[in-house]
Amino acid sequence: MGMSYRQYLAGARIYGCSTCKTHLATIHSMLSRAFNGQHGRAYLFEGVVNVVEGKPCDRQMTTGNHTVRDIYCIKCGVTLGWKYDKAYDPSQKYKEGKYILERNLLVDVQ
Ligand SMILES: [Zn+2]
Repeated sequence: MGMSYRQYLAGARIYGCSTCKTHLATIHSMLSRAFNGQHGRAYLFEGVVNVVEGKPCDRQMTTGNHTVRDIYCIKCGVTLGWKYDKAYDPSQKYKEGKYILERNLLVDVQ
């Protein structure tokens, strides 16, 4: 991975990696709290920072088949959630390019 520069977010509420406190997203980029991750509740975000995206893979979910990439913390490498590359069901297209972060893996960093 080499050198990586971490971005620092500013705002009313910042979510960070629960392991290393690296900033990941703000409340302003949150689209929904009503998602389920691999470990319970999860949030959908418009954008996140300081993550590495894995290789795309197809995953069958309750809402149909999706192409997703796992996302990892740029600092500590923990798996935080995933990014939606593609949704096959037209009703799920709004998720494309968006990110899921697992609630249990987030901390407030402010
Ligand atoms: Zn981390």
